[in-house]
Amino acid sequence: MHPTDIHQIVANDLLSDKFEDFMLRRVLSMDPDTRWCPAPDCGFAVIATGCAGCPKLKCERPGCGSYFCYHCKAEWHPNQTCDMARAQRSPMFSSHHSITFMTFRQMTMSNHAQDAKC
Ligand SMILES: [Zn+2]
Ligand SMILES: [Zn+2]
Repeated sequence: MHPTDIHQIVANDLLSDKFEDFMLRRVLSMDPDTRWCPAPDCGFAVIATGCAGCPKLKCERPGCGSYFCYHCKAEWHPNQTCDMARAQRSPMFSSHHSITFMTFRQMTMSNHAQDAKC
């Protein structure tokens, strides 16, 4: 096996890990009760049931334990309505996520181009 082939397999493994993570997120995101921990570098999924009356959710990931809001899906805002908390947050937050997604797609496409050459 040529060393570049091994390199290619490692790259594909890393990519498929990301892809499985992405698919899992897609499945979970179809559940209307799934909420994602907003803490940086966490992204733990919390399935919220019966939270309409008590919107304070807790991330169950060991070492995280962040509180966040069922309604607006952001960090818990004890003395604010969702709209007040939303107004305070940076508008960059959601666009940051779409930039990450575009980078991931570009990585996938450039990988396919290499496959075609071999
Ligand atoms: Zn968390
Ligand atoms: Zn809220």
